[in-house]
Amino acid sequence: MVGGRGVLAVKFMIGGAARLCKIFLAISRDLLFPVFCISCRVEGHWLCPPCLVKLQSEIKQQVFQHPYLDKVFALADYKNEIIARLIHLLKYEYVEEIGEIFEKMIEEFVRQNGAAILDGRQIAIIPIPLHKKRYLERGFNQAELLAKSCGRCLNVPVLSKALIRSRQTKTQVGLSGAERRNNLQGAFALRQSLIDIERVILVDDVFTTGSTMEEVARVLRSAGIHEVLGVTVARET
Ligand SMILES: [Zn+2]
Repeated sequence: MVGGRGVLAVKFMIGGAARLCKIFLAISRDLLFPVFCISCRVEGHWLCPPCLVKLQSEIKQQVFQHPYLDKVFALADYKNEIIARLIHLLKYEYVEEIGEIFEKMIEEFVRQNGAAILDGRQIAIIPIPLHKKRYLERGFNQAELLAKSCGRCLNVPVLSKALIRSRQTKTQVGLSGAERRNNLQGAFALRQSLIDIERVILVDDVFTTGSTMEEVARVLRSAGIHEVLGVTVARET
């Protein structure tokens, strides 16, 4: 018993030290590499609170249908330069904190649509998975960060490990719709039973031709999921 408590105390100390270390690293990083608002250049935030409020008032949510998807919600248009810049920072410059800005947008989306999405069915949220190699390069899956924000706001479980990207695919950039579909065929595999789930909300960062979400939705439907929705930060047309 005493041994157990001792182990717990050591774990607590290690946890505390790790947290302090993280705070220390964040402070030194901010001193060495100050961050400026991408919109108004004020120091201290990637997007300062007033610019976030302004962005929230400018973006328009889009709702549309797509093969295998009952409904897709895009929180904004990729043509919005601030949205495009934020996605670039998250996805290609690996700035994980951008996820906190998108969580604010997701909170607003849930305030508007939460009741319609949660109508008593058994729901799960699944992020579009990254291939393991890409995950190791980036250190996180941006779709998983967004899915977790959706899960927190909707109070719905997030099944991050339910799907895997079993095959590494070529980049979709520059491919036509048909080429994208070919490229993705058989790229995703389900590795968890979803027997009690009636509705799945797929989450991704950008919706372009929709071929990725479509392929995942096809896999889910063949596993017996009746309804598949999509939530994405931006739609690129
Ligand atoms: Zn600003």
